Amino acid sequence: MRIDSCRRCGENLTTQKECNVCNEVILFSCVKCNYSTEEKLHFQCQVPIIELQSGGR
Ligand SMILES: [Zn+2]
Ligand SMILES: [Zn+2]
Repeated sequence: MRIDSCRRCGENLTTQKECNVCNEVILFSCVKCNYSTEEKLHFQCQVPIIELQSGGR
């Protein structure tokens, strides 16, 4: 995944959060102005969690 630069100040973004299923970075934040990107939740990684919460059939 490409790391974008900050939309506010143009500084490089750092890794803030990783997907606990596939370990891809899903959230970046700027060290300079504290701006953080929208969390990119992986739909395919959410499915197992939803199944756990519903408790099966
Ligand atoms: Zn994932
Ligand atoms: Zn910034």
